[in-house]
Parts: sequence; C-alpha cells; structure tokens
Amino acid sequence: MSNPLEKAKYLLAAHIPSQLPADIGHEVAFAGRSNAGKSTALNALTRHKALARVSKTPGRTQQLVFFEIEQDKYLVDLPGYGYAKVPHELKDHWQAFLDRYFRTRNALKGLVVVMDIRHPLKEYDRHMLSYAVERGIPAHALLTKADKLGRGQQANALQAVKKELFSLFGETVSVQTFSGESKQGVDEARAVVNGWLGFPQV
Ligand code: GDP
Repeated sequence: MSNPLEKAKYLLAAHIPSQLPADIGHEVAFAGRSNAGKSTALNALTRHKALARVSKTPGRTQQLVFFEIEQDKYLVDLPGYGYAKVPHELKDHWQAFLDRYFRTRNALKGLVVVMDIRHPLKEYDRHMLSYAVERGIPAHALLTKADKLGRGQQANALQAVKKELFSLFGETVSVQTFSGESKQGVDEARAVVNGWLGFPQV
C-alpha cells in the first residue's frame, strides 16, 4: 500500500506568523514533550531515517517546522518545549504565536500528541490537547515507546488514558499505542494522519 507521507520533505521553519505557508491547505501538527519520542514517531510515519532531525537544531525550539507532503499538504512539528525552560520574552512571543496558530489556522485539520506510554497526559500534553479541542479540531494521542511495556501493561495504560481523556475532553480525542522502535501502531497512526490530510483511504 502506498504511503503518501513518505514524500515528506523539509520546507521551512516559521518563527513569526508571516513566515507560515499560505493558509489554504491541509496540515497536521505534532506535539510532544521533549524526549517523548516525537521525532522517532515522525520518522516512522514518513519512513525517513532523520526527517525530524532538522527540528532539533539549536534555534528551532521556538519555531513551527513544516514538512511538505505535496502542494498544500503539510506535517507541522511543534517544538516540545512549549512554555517551560525558555527566557520570559521568548516564552511570551512563542506562547502568543502558538495561541494564534491554534486559534486561527484554517489549514490545521488535526493534532497528534506524542506521549511516552509510561508518562502520559502531563501538563504540556493537556494544554496542547485543549487547544485543539477548544477549536473543534480532532486530536489523536500516540502512547509511544509501547515496546518498553508488556502487552498487559500496554492494555492497562491505554485503558487508563482513554478514561482520563474521556473525562477531560469527551469523545473528541482518540488514542492508540505506538512504537517507533518496533513499528507497532504505525499503520493505524498513518491512517489517522492521511485521513486528516485528505488523502483517499485505501
Ligand atoms: P523527541 O524529543 O520527542 O523528538 O524524542 P526522540 O524521538 O528523539 O526520542 C527520545 C529517545 O527515546 C531516543 O533515545 C529514542 O531512541 C527513544 N525512543 C523514541 N521512540 C521510541 C520507541 O518507540 N521505543 C523505544 N524503546 N525508544 C524510543
């Protein structure tokens, strides 16, 4: 089965709204705390070895990094820092940019939040999910590094997160287990992302 995400190429990094691509297409944003496994997940979904490495270069921690799949279809890597660990002014600028992006971006069709299955739903994750939910944009949580747990523990963690997501956000946020390492859950996650990007589902 062909995977359109394999065509992903680095396009640009935006630090201010005027640097964003025209707001006319379909894009899916990826958020996750630092070290959650977001780069590994992006690489697994796109079948690239180091696509998301570019997002980790110094200075990129306050930028939205756009990967183009094809014209007007993008994956957007949001830095994992969010609002912690950066100086006040940068923090305010970044927070305002991110707020505005979530509140106004028409092209934003879905949000993927990558969380370590052993440490899910931290403050940053809830914050990102609530941005999407408040705007009526669907969100999907990847409980990654699932390979670190046995099947039973994975099932328990998934159930617990499902329950908590339901109590926080109702039915608007879906969730699955995932591993960039073993590739568990990659097809399921691709189907969600491709659907939001408007690719026909085979
Ligand atoms: P990011 O900061 O969220 O982009 O996280 P990375 O993708 O760079 O991953 C952080 C660390 O977790 C790295 O050492 C990865 O090799 C490891 N890691 C990421 N995903 C997985 C996974 O699914 N399974 C395992 N076992 N390790 C993972």
